[in-house]
Amino acid sequence: MNNLNSNIIAVDGPSASGKGTLSRNLAAALGFAHMDTGALYRAVGYEVLQAGANPENESDAIAGVQSLKSKLTQSNVLSNPDLRLDETGVAASKVAVIQSVRDALTNLQRDFAKAPPAGAKGAILDGRDIGTVICPDAPLKLFVTANEEVRAKRRTKELQSKGLDATYKAVLEDMRARDARDTARKAAPLRPAGDAVVIDSSDLDEAEMLELALGYAKKALAVS
Ligand code: C5P
Repeated sequence: MNNLNSNIIAVDGPSASGKGTLSRNLAAALGFAHMDTGALYRAVGYEVLQAGANPENESDAIAGVQSLKSKLTQSNVLSNPDLRLDETGVAASKVAVIQSVRDALTNLQRDFAKAPPAGAKGAILDGRDIGTVICPDAPLKLFVTANEEVRAKRRTKELQSKGLDATYKAVLEDMRARDARDTARKAAPLRPAGDAVVIDSSDLDEAEMLELALGYAKKALAVS
């Protein structure tokens, strides 16, 4: 199967580490397709909340996956602005603990990596377990992090810029709970792959991060 895409960049990291922005910028610079895998978990969490169900309950969460899958052909389902709400992020991190939910979302992600949309020169996926579980053979794995204060400030600013009522303290608390759940869970916990390059974005701006990551991409992948 040598016609499958092998130009894959796996980007992982905790919430508000800057991995999403970096992934979008890298995709634009390299002509790669980008998948925000957090949006899948957020969309499942959202479906469960909309149904008035419990994101910690396995059968409720699987019903959420099925509901999402039935809507995935509607192009805007993953761009619903409500997916970005903090409460949706918390629900996402609850459904994400459940192994059967993760299993049900695995092929969607692997298929995208192996066969990105026509015209793309490669694929970038960002999430929590891309380098460790979804694409362990990706030739470039980045683990993006930043200190907690910087991340909470970024997330507060992002939510406020959307006109949402967010306070630093509440955002920090939600972020800590979510990070703890993502790191401590048995199923695909958040951690850097053994061969990941760690980028600390605390003191870097968008352009500096892109430049750094492009340097790694040019060494590891067939890109110019
Ligand atoms: O990246 P984002 O903050 O949008 O992800 C929301 C939640 O989805 C995370 O807190 C995490 O629990 C879950 N997630 C995951 N695996 C991924 C992507 C996201 O468990 N690959």
